Amino acid sequence: MPQHDVLIIGSGLAATTLALSLPASMKVALVTKKAPEDSSSFWAQGGIAAVMGADDSFDDHVRDTLVAGAGLCDEAAVRRVVEAAPGAVRWLIDQGAPFDLEGEAYHLAREGGHSRRRVLHAADATGRAVQQTLLARLAERPNITLLSQHIAVDLITDRRLGRDGHSVYGAYVLDNASGRVRTFQAGATVLATGGAGKAFLYTTNPDTATGDGIAMAWRAGCRVANLEFIQFHPTCLYHPHAKSFLITEAMRGEGAVLRLPDGSRFMPEHDERAELAPRDVVARAIDFEMKKRGLDCVYLDITHKPARFIVGHFPTIHARCLELGIDITREWIPVAPAAHYTCGGVLVDRNGQADAHRLYVVGEAACTGLHGANRLASNSLLECLVYGRAAAAHIAGLEPRAAERLPDWDESRVTDADEEIVIAHNWHELRRFMWDYVGIVRTTKRLERAAHRLRLLNDEIFEYYSNFRVSNDLIELRNLVLTADLIVRCARERRESRGLHFSRNYPDLLAEAASTVLEPGRVEAE
Ligand SMILES: Cc1cc2nc3c(=O)[nH]c(=O)nc-3n(C[C@H](O)[C@H](O)[C@H](O)COP(=O)(O)OP(=O)(O)OC[C@H]3O[C@@H](n4cnc5c(N)ncnc54)[C@H](O)[C@@H]3O)c2cc1C
Repeated sequence: MPQHDVLIIGSGLAATTLALSLPASMKVALVTKKAPEDSSSFWAQGGIAAVMGADDSFDDHVRDTLVAGAGLCDEAAVRRVVEAAPGAVRWLIDQGAPFDLEGEAYHLAREGGHSRRRVLHAADATGRAVQQTLLARLAERPNITLLSQHIAVDLITDRRLGRDGHSVYGAYVLDNASGRVRTFQAGATVLATGGAGKAFLYTTNPDTATGDGIAMAWRAGCRVANLEFIQFHPTCLYHPHAKSFLITEAMRGEGAVLRLPDGSRFMPEHDERAELAPRDVVARAIDFEMKKRGLDCVYLDITHKPARFIVGHFPTIHARCLELGIDITREWIPVAPAAHYTCGGVLVDRNGQADAHRLYVVGEAACTGLHGANRLASNSLLECLVYGRAAAAHIAGLEPRAAERLPDWDESRVTDADEEIVIAHNWHELRRFMWDYVGIVRTTKRLERAAHRLRLLNDEIFEYYSNFRVSNDLIELRNLVLTADLIVRCARERRESRGLHFSRNYPDLLAEAASTVLEPGRVEAE
């Protein structure tokens, strides 16, 4: 049985930062369910927010973050992250991250919601540049073992071991290549598993974003919070062969307009700022029109600009669309909103510690109090960096834990699955009704419908999970159903419209802002 000082689950920015920030004397295993590059971190485009400019201040960054968070941020957490940002970014630069320069200084971009230029970036592929750098550093570390195609199934808890206490001792991990479930014992276990965009039919997230860490922590008896706040990006390319391709909001900034299939514009009816209204307003308007008319998409039209301007300003989008047969200099771009970011997650403290002892949750899977009811652009990679480093420092100070013999994964009562179609069908059904009932605009009735369907799905998955050998798809579906259920529960508890949560039945804002915190009353049978 592999024994490690630290087991890290995931290989996005939160995981790589944490692993590289641990002392080289610690034996670390990093398991990731696909290739190391498969993560939202790798796909991040814009950049990382940090106060670096002479005209900027911590107070300004704090204020911008609090405004976006619509009254639900933990101000102390926001200040901690903002003040730690320049140091965290310098650490990244020391690792070799190639941020764009302007003369001697780093080029700072300005993004929506930021009152200053403060976003460091590497062209429009920041995540790729940063992750390639950190994964290269990881490979140089003899104390860190990175295992691809290893998906964590569940945490090993006192409860699973049949004893009192609330500690985590590692995890059961399925090796997708051999089909064998391995037992990883660790002094500290870290969930750096990312968000849950795949709970929705349309998402900008990679396939890995199935809420695994949120579900595992909940089953291990940890609280989760604010999961009703899902950020939707208004314009994702809608095409059968292009999963998750973002059409930047800068295109609307340059004059692109949104059209219905008959060519008419609809944004002016929804907001006086029309296409330049904030992201949430545009996403809601598109959702409204699509649902009202039963459309699969609407269209973004920039054809009135000269072709040279379009190709010069949007080379990547132009090239990608052309590959798919859409010439954006002459044709409208089919777009639909898509789930982009999970603001809530597993409740953690300033060191990334969850409710269970020796369990840490970092990155998008965590709820640190930084984002509140809405995330400020480019604050999420920052959160990965700051909490990854804080958790590493805390773990380094833990008392070493004596090794013990943990029981192996028990497969004596299961058989090979008879019908894979059950998983594929349930997966699709879940994502469809989550989109229709728990998407951008919610109503009490829609949420009740979703809750009802989730109960049925949950029973079916539970039975399947109990009787058949685990597979990557089954593990993900089981986690996605549970995380979707937690999203719906949070959404049903909120009786107002705040930040990213909009309910037609409760359109107003309550005077007092309060987080939605769910406590596992009954730990799901393991
Ligand atoms: C298209 C896109 C653009 C974005 N642009 C920006 C931006 O410009 N700036 C910004 O701040 N944020 C941006 N974001 C958000 C940001 O990228 C994410 O919030 C952040 O990268 C999350 O990092 P993470 O390490 O928590 O998770 P991820 O990077 O998603 O990594 C999670 C990892 O966990 C692994 N994993 C999951 N479950 C398991 C399991 N059961 N067992 C083993 N491994 C598992 C996954 O395979 C993956 O390696 C963007 C997101 C997207 C999708």
